[in-house]
Amino acid sequence: MMVVLFSCTEDKPSSQTTQQKPVVVTPSFSGDSAYKFVADQVAFGPRVPNTTAHANCAVYLKEKLEGYGADVIVQEAVVTAFDGKALNMKNIIGQFSPEKKNRVMLYAHWDTRPFADKDSTRQNEPIDGANDGGSGVGVLLEIARLLHSQPTNVGVDIVFFDTEDYGAPEGVETGDYTDWCLGSQYWAKNKHVANYRAKYGILLDMVGSSDAVFNREGTSMATSPMVVDKVWRTAQKLGYGGYFKDTVTPQTVDDNYFVTVMGGIPSANIVQYHVDVLTMGYGFFHHTHKDNMDIIDPNTLKAVGQTVADCIYQD
Ligand code: ZN
Repeated sequence: MMVVLFSCTEDKPSSQTTQQKPVVVTPSFSGDSAYKFVADQVAFGPRVPNTTAHANCAVYLKEKLEGYGADVIVQEAVVTAFDGKALNMKNIIGQFSPEKKNRVMLYAHWDTRPFADKDSTRQNEPIDGANDGGSGVGVLLEIARLLHSQPTNVGVDIVFFDTEDYGAPEGVETGDYTDWCLGSQYWAKNKHVANYRAKYGILLDMVGSSDAVFNREGTSMATSPMVVDKVWRTAQKLGYGGYFKDTVTPQTVDDNYFVTVMGGIPSANIVQYHVDVLTMGYGFFHHTHKDNMDIIDPNTLKAVGQTVADCIYQD
């Protein structure tokens, strides 16, 4: 990901309902279960496209979603990286209650960065991506487990995007930001279901670090402020205001940009991004070998997961 400025688009307010809804109790999200799902992914090795670890993890993710009752579609395509390399991309999409018209899309990227370009050592080696890649997927697998035990009123699609993190390394200029998020760009042009609609989306990216803080991400605020408001208010209502802060970050390029602007799904991005002068940016681990299981905290996974669960169960 990188930081960039672009123009705003209008966000549509969600439709109001006047019917009385039955009381739904949101099930308890397990931070320990989500942690295990992160560790499972990291154990495959770096999930870099065109590697055995990547292929094996794709099978794992498909089977986990199917095991929790989802109808799974795997979108396969060859996409081109910034350096001309052909990448075998797999977007893995788990549909829960696919017959329902009223839908919510939850998404994260599952690939990991092929280099540690922000580290001081072993810059050409891939990173574990426990937080950047593993954490968002781990939380969504735990959500899938909850959906299996207790369905929601809305239909839910859990989308694991591939090839998000193959953007050009630090110092290599490409002219724009379209070398990032290749999987979500492909999906926005080739939806898994014709005329696919979701009333809103939530992206989870780097949601597991023990020092996490989630400020209101600038691109989400520019494109989909009502979705951000829904998620942040839910988090604060649940007592997670220590993680979910109201300061707005610079506009970043992440999968939500393409899903919202190209794909038409207004989305909030829950992403660790610090706004104070000394630590401004994604965090000390970002695109370094420090992004390993040592920084993953079940409490952070719980805060994010319980928030997302409450959003969809109370919908
Ligand atoms: Zn990254």
